[in-house]
Amino acid sequence: MFAVGAGFLALLPIVGSLAYTYRSAIDRAEAKVEEVARQVAEHVHGVLWSAEGALADLAYFARAGCTPDLIREFRNKAAALYAMRGFGYVDADGYLTCTSFGKLAPPVKIRDLEVTIKPEGSLVWFTPPVATEFTPGVSIVALHNLRDGSLIDVLFPPELLLSTLPPDVLGDDGFVRVTMLGIELSALGTRPLSAEDTLSATTDVGLFDAQVTATATRSWALSGWRQNLTVNGIVGIFAGLVLVGGVAHLAGRRSSITDELKDAVANQEFEVHYQPVIDLRDDRCVGAEALIRWRHPERGLVPPDLFIALAEETGAIIPMTRWIMRQVGEDMGELLRADGGFHIAINLAPAHFTSLDVVADAQEAAKAHDIDPAQLLFEVTERGLVDDQGCRDVIDALGELGSEVAIDDFGTGYSSLAYVEKFKLDYLKIDKAFVSTIGTEAASAGLSAIIIDMARQLGLRIIAEGVETEAQMTYLRDHGVTNAQGYYFAKPLPAADFLDFARRYNAKGD
Ligand code: C2E
Ligand code: CA
Ligand code: CA
Repeated sequence: MFAVGAGFLALLPIVGSLAYTYRSAIDRAEAKVEEVARQVAEHVHGVLWSAEGALADLAYFARAGCTPDLIREFRNKAAALYAMRGFGYVDADGYLTCTSFGKLAPPVKIRDLEVTIKPEGSLVWFTPPVATEFTPGVSIVALHNLRDGSLIDVLFPPELLLSTLPPDVLGDDGFVRVTMLGIELSALGTRPLSAEDTLSATTDVGLFDAQVTATATRSWALSGWRQNLTVNGIVGIFAGLVLVGGVAHLAGRRSSITDELKDAVANQEFEVHYQPVIDLRDDRCVGAEALIRWRHPERGLVPPDLFIALAEETGAIIPMTRWIMRQVGEDMGELLRADGGFHIAINLAPAHFTSLDVVADAQEAAKAHDIDPAQLLFEVTERGLVDDQGCRDVIDALGELGSEVAIDDFGTGYSSLAYVEKFKLDYLKIDKAFVSTIGTEAASAGLSAIIIDMARQLGLRIIAEGVETEAQMTYLRDHGVTNAQGYYFAKPLPAADFLDFARRYNAKGD
């Protein structure tokens, strides 16, 4: 009894000092999170303030509508404010008729997109990336009301709002977002899945109802504190004991999504879904894109957008993709062996292009399931195509294996077709952002036609993605696009449902 009491007493000051240092670590982290939110808010204020000022100046020139004078003023402003991509004029019927790049012929309708009216009568609205001939994939961010209901808009990439921030300023699990009227404009870092175990701070920008929120995990806040415990030796063994308790406690609460992600493979929480790919020439299902799904025991189905970025950062993407390739063999082996014309597309991340491991993984998975590697198609995004030898080596090695390579999400990044030409690619996937404008406005649909034409000149076959309507399908087919996928045909399906789909789809004409 006495021994227990003495031990307890001896621990008291230690526990006290631990509690104190713990508290100050949290306080410091909170101050840091607040500081980041404040700094970003200041930057966002600067961008929005100059946008607002420019819009007020331009209102004068816009009174006569889309004149050469207005276009010249747009250009001058865009040149003076390097941060702005450009300016545009939206007429009373909601058509974007000219931008700082010139007149749009024909104009692009954008007004039926999400609109929110501010009390003073000016408007702030957000569009999904609008593809016009001059501004592919740029979001239109803030607009200014003119008297007759027409508007001038500012075009700039929302990422700009966070461009001054180093991505890891709040540690691996940090997250910063900028919103306007509650709508997210831009975000950086790992999106927190739960409010618990995170520190966060929100700052009002003071313009256009913009807000900045910064978030960091508690485990990041305590990392310095934990290190100190082990180095400064005041508490020695006792600290160790307390730490054991603390770590057990943290482990019990599953402190971060990073940990959960690590366990997910072992716990078999991942599934591969398959989105059918249709050959438009004979309307047959000729393959599928493998898309990962995380069935989280508590959170339910977590969309890949939430965890792929994290898996890329932590390197978990490598074993994850290895697992996907094996799973593809398991799910689709029989079909692939039976039909040599069938292919499965697998997404690769930039990390796959730093070594030849992915080639070995593909070869091994194909061999284990007796699949011809020619039936595997690897999708690379523009981000993955770095102009260096290592990247070319991986693509060449995949080609030697017999597999094909596609550039994914083409048009959403900054690379040009000329850049793409430097790599041995087989397919180009036209992004949904372009496909979805087909049949709505001729100017943007024209952009799809331009991409299709150029891809053909480069000898690339084309897969259109995000096909949702019959009109889009017909347009693409008539422009010589051979392959397509999208909700018009089918959503990504669990393996068994996909096999069922393919069987039925290809039986229908027979
Ligand atoms: P992605 O490679 O561009 O995949 C296409 C995404 O568009 C999929 O979302 C798919 O479900 C969705 N989609 C397909 N057709 C339509 C359509 O007609 N309309 C609309 N609105 N959406 C459509 P998902 O599965 O949520 O995947 C999102 C992204 O996550 C993928 O974009 C890809 O970048 C990444 N991802 C998914 N699985 C993997 C994977 O296994 N490895 C890697 N590295 N990335 C993956
Ligand atoms: Ca893809
Ligand atoms: Ca894509």
